Amino acid sequence: MVVGVIGDPVAHSRSPTLHNAAFAALGLDWVSVAFPVAPGALDVALPGARALGLRGLSVTMPFKEPVAAAVDRTSPTAERLGAVNCVVVEPDGLVGHNTDGAGFLAALRRGAEFDPSGRRCLVAGAGGAARAVVLALAGAGAGEVIVLGRAPARAAAAAALAGAAGRTGKPSDARGADLVVNATPAGMAGTSSAAELPPVDPALLGHGQLAVDLVYAPRPTRWLQLAAGQGARTLDGLGMLVHQAALQIELWTGSPAPVGAMWHAVTARRSRGARAPRS
Ligand code: NDP
Repeated sequence: MVVGVIGDPVAHSRSPTLHNAAFAALGLDWVSVAFPVAPGALDVALPGARALGLRGLSVTMPFKEPVAAAVDRTSPTAERLGAVNCVVVEPDGLVGHNTDGAGFLAALRRGAEFDPSGRRCLVAGAGGAARAVVLALAGAGAGEVIVLGRAPARAAAAAALAGAAGRTGKPSDARGADLVVNATPAGMAGTSSAAELPPVDPALLGHGQLAVDLVYAPRPTRWLQLAAGQGARTLDGLGMLVHQAALQIELWTGSPAPVGAMWHAVTARRSRGARAPRS
């Protein structure tokens, strides 16, 4: 069985490494292959995946939103987000899912033993990753989800995903937050944002707080190092990367994902290469 990873560009995606480690550990004769898809070719690629008998697709930039509009049906989470990161090819059509938020929650739980229930959370950024995190935190019972975005309308739309718990905020809101998440690319190696810091000054963070950076290269980021220096607990983005891929494996195979094998594969690869990775 074959699954594909589609994006543009997609050559440096870690998803095939994660998926193939899982298939090997599960003893499945499956393979995950990266397929670069030109933006204008998505309309052909999706029915093509079905025609060629692929079991599914992992979807990365810039296709998460266009795929949500193109599949036959979507999960409730993908519907709310208007974004799909995983397609399952079912006999009656293409089904779009979004595992980013659940992957984030799993990483929080497994990597930091953090339960968002009743907690005050601040999310910096209002793009696709931030939206998935906001919806997931609200679904996990967060008491408050504050969104910090550069563009007011985008920030308000992201905060609205948290319903009554959501609102937009300002950097100083980080002071009273239990959880502060960087969901911007600031600090990400190999990008134009590499030298930047996320919009939450680490000086606002300290003991009793958890700082999470969705960026996972470098590992840790400078922002996380500074937050740790202030006494905050920290968690980088690799756990979310692994867990969102693990949930894709479960959707395609119906088997529990071998998270340990996937984690090992991606950390082993990280130590060999220095390129900016993509999910
Ligand atoms: P998007 O481009 O969809 O959104 C980025 C958001 O960050 C936008 O709100 C943007 O603001 C804001 N932003 C961009 N640069 C800066 C900056 N220098 N300072 C402040 N705000 C900024 O990206 P994604 O949401 O898809 O991804 C965000 C980050 O999360 C990336 O680094 C990505 O690699 C990482 N990620 C990690 C995952 C994981 O598994 N660990 C999964 C998904 C993403 P504006 O709206 O004004 O442009």
